[in-house]
Amino acid sequence: MTTAYEQFAAHIAELSDILNAISILKWDARTQMPPGGAETRGYQLATLSKLSQEHFISDKTARLLDAVEAEIQGEDPDSYRVRAVQQTRQYYDILRRLPLDLVGRKAALEPVSEGVWAEAKKNSDFKSFMPYLQQQVDLARWQADAIGYEDHPFDALVFEYEPSMTAAKLKALFEGLKTGIIPLLRAIVAHDRPLEKNLWAHEYPLDRQRAFGLEMAQKIGYDMKRGRLDIAPHPFEISFTRQDVRITTRYSLHYFPMALYGTLHETGHALYEQGVDPSLTRTPLTIDFLGKYPVGGTSYGVHESQSRLWENVVGRSRRFWDCHFDRFREIFPEQSADVTPEFMFRAVNRVAPSLIRVEADEVTYNLHIMLRVELELGLLDGSIKVEDLPEIWNVKMKEYLDIAVPDDAHGVLQDIHWSGGGFGSFPGYTVGNVMSLQFLEAARRDTPGLDDSLAGGDYMPLLGWLTENIYRHGRAYSGEELLVRTSGQPLSVEPYLKYLREKFTDLYQLPEG
Ligand code: ZN
Repeated sequence: MTTAYEQFAAHIAELSDILNAISILKWDARTQMPPGGAETRGYQLATLSKLSQEHFISDKTARLLDAVEAEIQGEDPDSYRVRAVQQTRQYYDILRRLPLDLVGRKAALEPVSEGVWAEAKKNSDFKSFMPYLQQQVDLARWQADAIGYEDHPFDALVFEYEPSMTAAKLKALFEGLKTGIIPLLRAIVAHDRPLEKNLWAHEYPLDRQRAFGLEMAQKIGYDMKRGRLDIAPHPFEISFTRQDVRITTRYSLHYFPMALYGTLHETGHALYEQGVDPSLTRTPLTIDFLGKYPVGGTSYGVHESQSRLWENVVGRSRRFWDCHFDRFREIFPEQSADVTPEFMFRAVNRVAPSLIRVEADEVTYNLHIMLRVELELGLLDGSIKVEDLPEIWNVKMKEYLDIAVPDDAHGVLQDIHWSGGGFGSFPGYTVGNVMSLQFLEAARRDTPGLDDSLAGGDYMPLLGWLTENIYRHGRAYSGEELLVRTSGQPLSVEPYLKYLREKFTDLYQLPEG
C-alpha cells in the first residue's frame, strides 16, 4: 500500500526526468550540435515540452495533489515535504489559470519577435521592432491579469524569477542603491588614471587559460566528477540533477579575464546546484515548473548572489591574487613578467561607464539593470509608451552613467530579453548582488576565522556555510526566507554598498567619506 505522498512523488519524479531530458538537448544544441541539427532538434524539444505539460497540467496531478494535501495536514510547514506539496500546488494553479490562447500566442510570437529584434539591432532600427515589442507588452499584461496581482502587473511576472519580490520593494531597493552608487561612480571617474602597463597586449594561449580557470574552479569547490567545462558564445550553467552540473565559458586570446571570470561566475551557479541535498533529487524542490532556469536553486536572485559572490567578491579580491598569482605566473611566465599581484588586482577591477550591460564592471552594472527595470515597470503599468522607449533610455543613460548613446543598437536594442517577452528577469542580477553581501556577512558572523581562511586560499569554510544554509535546501525556501533565516534581515542594501565603497575607495585612492 503506497501513501498519497509516494504516489505524488513518483508522478513528479517522472516530470523531473522529462524536464532534465529537455535540458540535456538544450545543452547539446548550445555546445556540441552541428548547425544541421537545429531543425529536428526543434521538433524534439517541442514534443518533449508538450509531453511535460500534458504530464503536469493534468487531472491526475489534480487528484494526487488533493490526496497528498489531505495526508500532510498538520505537518511542520517548513518541512521539505510540505514545501514540496505547497509549491507544486502554487505552480499548478498558476499554469491552470493561463488561457491556452495566451500560451499559444506567446509561443508563436517569441521566435518571430526575436528574429525581428536581431535584424533591428543589426540595422539600429527601433521602428521595425516596435510593433513586436508592443505585442509582447500586451501579452505580458494579459498574462499578469490572468495570474493576478494586487499592486502592479510586474508583481505577477517577477514571481516567475523572484517569488518574494514586488515592484514596490524594487523601487525602494533602487533608491537606496542609486544614492550610494552614483556618487561613488562620479568620484571614481574623477580620480581615474591609466594603468602603467597594458596586460591585454600579450597573448594568453587558450589551452592554458582553460587550465588555470578550471584549476581555480576546483579550488573553490567545483566537483569535476559531477561537472564539465565547455565553450559557449553566451556562457551559462545548466544542471540535470545535482549529479551532473555543467558550465561553459568563452575565450579571448588577449583579454584573459573574460574566460577566467566567466568560469568563476558559472562555477558559482554550479556550486549551488551541486550542493543541493541528495534527497531533493527528482522532487518538486529541484524543479522549475515554469520551465526556465535555474533548476535546483530557488530563484534568479539567489542564484546570481552565488555566481557574483564567487566571481566578484572572492575572485576579484586582492587576497585572491595574493594567493594564486604564483600559479598564474607558472602558467603564463612571459606575460606576467614584472607584474605584481597588486597590479593584477587593479587590472581586473577597472571601472568605466560604458554603453553595454554585459561588459559592465561591478560598480556600473547595477545602474544598467535599474534603468531596464524602471522602463519595464513603466511599459507594464502604461506610464511609458513603446515608441518613447529610445528617448527615455538615452536620458537615463545620461543621468546614471553620464554617457551619450550613439544609436539604438548600443542602447535600447542591445538585450534580447524583451523580444522574447522575458519581463521580470532583469532584477535578479541586482537583487543577487545585494544578497551576496548579506549572505557573506552572515557567514562571517557564524564562522570565526572565515576571512583568515579566505586569505589563505582555503574556500571550504565559506563553501561549507553556503551549502549548509542555502544550497542544500534547493527550492524549499524563497530568497527572502533564506535572507531572514541566515542574516535576520530582509533584503537590505547596506552590506553591499559598504563593500563597494570600501573596495573602490581603496582601489582608486578616493578621499574618505
Ligand atoms: Zn549568472
